[in-house]
Formats: sequence, C-alpha cells, structure tokens
Amino acid sequence: MSTCIFCRIVDGSIPAKVVHEDEHTLAFDDVSPQAPVHTLVIPKRHVAAVQDLGESDQALLGRLLLTCRKVAADKGLAEPGYRIVANTGRDGGQTVFHLHFHVLGGRHLGWPPG
Ligand code: IMP
Repeated sequence: MSTCIFCRIVDGSIPAKVVHEDEHTLAFDDVSPQAPVHTLVIPKRHVAAVQDLGESDQALLGRLLLTCRKVAADKGLAEPGYRIVANTGRDGGQTVFHLHFHVLGGRHLGWPPG
C-alpha cells in the first residue's frame, strides 16, 4: 500500500469529498479549509512536486489547470474570482509531497501571502 496520502485518496483507501474525477486528475475538498471554498486538484499519477514535471507532462499540466478552472466554475467562483496555488518545496510551504493545486475562494484573499 502506498505511503503517500494523496495516492491513497486516489486508490480509495482514504476517504475524501471528491468533487471531480477524470482519467488523469482528481479534485477533492481540503480537510482543513483556509477559505469557504478550498479544493485540491491532483494528478492521479504520483508526482512529488512541480519541479518533478518534465516536458512530456505538458498535457497533464494543462489538464490540471483546466480541472482547477472547472472546480472554480462549479463552486460559483468564476465571478468574483479565486486563487490557484501550488506550494512547492520547503520554503514554498509544501507539506504533502504529491503535486497539488489549491483552489481557494469565497472570500477576499490578501496579497502577498505570508
Ligand atoms: P501543502 O501544504 O501545500 O502541501 O498542502 C497540503 C494540503 O493537504 C493542506 O491544505 C492539508 O490541509 C491538505 N490535506 C492533508 N491531508 C488531507 C486529506 O486527507 N484530505 C484532504 N486534504 C488533506
């Protein structure tokens, strides 16, 4: 059994509130939401972080961003807007080393982030 928590969500051995699934991506609500809408979009294939993607992952990256856009639209965020974030590595604040995009919205989001 995988030790990666998001791989275990993909294989169904850890429950999650899934809001979108297709052949290559999965989207589920964050267990510790930082905004009224906080959904994570991940590749089903294990990729640790952005820097582990290669040239051959162009289509996957496009699919992930399109899934973020769909999640935001489905959650009613297209207007007034939302944020897509990929924390990367230690200084980026990444805590789960399976690539994921946070889709955050439903309140005004400050800038710059902490
Ligand atoms: P990171 O800090 O950018 O790596 O984001 C990891 C995110 O995963 C955090 O926002 C956590 O709340 C979230 N998270 C961790 N475990 C689970 C889970 O089992 N289900 C849903 N979200 C999770």
